[in-house]
Amino acid sequence: MRKTYFTPGPAELFPTVERHYQDAFEQQLGSISHRSQKFRDIYKHTVEQLRILMNVPETNGIFFTGSATEIWERLIQNTVEHESFHLVNGSFSKKFYDFSVDLNKFAHKFEKPFGEGFDNSEIEVPEYAELICTTANETSSGVQMRPAEIHKLKRANKDKFVCVDMVSSAPYPDLDFNTIDSAFFSVQKSFGMPAGLGCWIVNPTMLEKAERMKIHENQIGTYHSLPSLFKNFSKFETPETPNVMAIYVLGKVAEDMNNIGIETIRKQTEKKAKVLYDFADKCDFLEVFVKNPEHRSQTVVVVNVKEKSAADIIKQVQTDVNMVIGSGYGDFKATQLRIANFAAVNLEQVETLVEALRKV
Ligand SMILES: *Cc1c(COP(=O)(O)O)cnc(C)c1O
Repeated sequence: MRKTYFTPGPAELFPTVERHYQDAFEQQLGSISHRSQKFRDIYKHTVEQLRILMNVPETNGIFFTGSATEIWERLIQNTVEHESFHLVNGSFSKKFYDFSVDLNKFAHKFEKPFGEGFDNSEIEVPEYAELICTTANETSSGVQMRPAEIHKLKRANKDKFVCVDMVSSAPYPDLDFNTIDSAFFSVQKSFGMPAGLGCWIVNPTMLEKAERMKIHENQIGTYHSLPSLFKNFSKFETPETPNVMAIYVLGKVAEDMNNIGIETIRKQTEKKAKVLYDFADKCDFLEVFVKNPEHRSQTVVVVNVKEKSAADIIKQVQTDVNMVIGSGYGDFKATQLRIANFAAVNLEQVETLVEALRKV
């Protein structure tokens, strides 16, 4: 019997993914040249569907990388000469900060305890920071930063770049790409695809900076520098031989999501999240981890486990209903559960999960 994955990445595949991969094999996409018109048409289709889905202006480039981890490095290499600033409240936002340190930048951070989130009003951005790094959904702790707060942060710091890590929430957050400068995700979390592709959305102001940095410092990287990515993108090509299959399937999944409608996906996400949080609130052996309701993630629900063992709960739910829920991250492995609420799982599946948890 098939399992249903509520793990926060890799995660349950979006229901149409298997069929799209089959179609990709039938079209022999694993063998086509990435300098062919066929590939350019695929890249173009994926870009068009992502623009509709996430409301991305025509002026922004949409690029493909190996992963989101790669994009952390590329962002710092291409847009930070000296100083970056990071909002850190969990393992992923911390790693982004660590990358900047490793790349010999002066990296500043405003750090909050695991489980707490950020609002614009309490953020003081260092004067010389060039790039402000935010995380729309901190996957390790289940904390979101709401788009309105990210937009305010940019408006208060117009001379600095703002980038948004939306790996475990895209396309749920309604980000204004005319306000923020860049956002990125990997496909194996909220897009419900097999891993192996990162997607990076960038405005032309970042390209201008990278071009200036290239002249002065020549340290912006090689094939995946912004000038190289933008140049290839202008013909719907990539600098290297890319993951053609995944680029094709991403375009198809985005098209499927557009057919459902992004507003419907957002409403369904919120409804399923409410079912999970309401259950955890009432359940005597669970407790919602994130105290401030406005900071609670809509796409990764994190709960503390009281009296029982988290590992036992995970095992029992798998035995009873073939559903796989995620363990807590790092130090919280033994005491928390993480339940992914991505578009690939529907309300009925969430209700089945809740029933199974009720019986534990
Ligand atoms: C998983 C994750 C990443 C890293 O994604 P990779 O695909 O492993 O590179 C980055 N940021 C967040 C918020 C994540 O959840």
